[in-house]
Amino acid sequence: LYLDQPLEEGREVPATSAQAHYLGGVMRRAPGDAVLLFNGRDGEWEARIAALRKDRCLVRPERRTRAQEVAPATRLLVTAVKRDAMDWMAEKATELGIGAIQPVLTRRSITDRVNTGRLSSIAQEAAEQCGRLTVPAIAPAAPLHAVLDAWDGTPLLVGDERRESPPLAALAQGLPVGPWAWLVGPEGGFERAELDDLRRRAFVSTVSLGPRILRAETAAVAGLAVLQALAGD
Ligand code: SAM
Repeated sequence: LYLDQPLEEGREVPATSAQAHYLGGVMRRAPGDAVLLFNGRDGEWEARIAALRKDRCLVRPERRTRAQEVAPATRLLVTAVKRDAMDWMAEKATELGIGAIQPVLTRRSITDRVNTGRLSSIAQEAAEQCGRLTVPAIAPAAPLHAVLDAWDGTPLLVGDERRESPPLAALAQGLPVGPWAWLVGPEGGFERAELDDLRRRAFVSTVSLGPRILRAETAAVAGLAVLQALAGD
């Protein structure tokens, strides 16, 4: 369970009401049962349920079972797409170990509304499910050009479906060890001027995931899987 509370031996901390419901109603846990806790800072702890009612739960950390992991420095930049697709991307990107997610707004974005709180909750649940000890940070949506103008020089790989770019797998094999970022465009794709602007930046490489046109969310997750396999940990 992810709890945004300091974790230390013997110090009881409250779970959220949703977690209390999950533990009691779904998992059928009872006081005295063990659960694993993390907060993104203090590692993983084995804890006992000290009290459990319908929507309230107290847990008591007893033993640290894993040291804190360092948050990955990798980033996913996704153009705001439909809510379900954003949710799915946030979940899968968390499972694939992404460090942070930056929603971006491009000329063909179909929406500029991104619910970062909702995406953070999804990322938290996905981190719990896959045994990560960090939760990806979800940044507020920002225009693509503003994100690029403030960029720190990390290699940025950009999905290009127009058959004008080398395969991602070939390029990723030559990546230096270290942080990278992966950017996919909106359902309508990047405009030509946006792609030209991206290509002018020294840190950008445009890459292909094959000859078929993938949905934005498929391209996001497929690219992360390739990068994770070749350059991630
Ligand atoms: N412009 C396209 C069209 O309407 O024909 C579709 C864009 S696609 C649905 C959305 C985004 O996914 C693209 O901007 C690109 O970043 C990524 N993408 C899709 N297929 C890809 C591929 N085969 N290789 C690399 N990136 C791809």
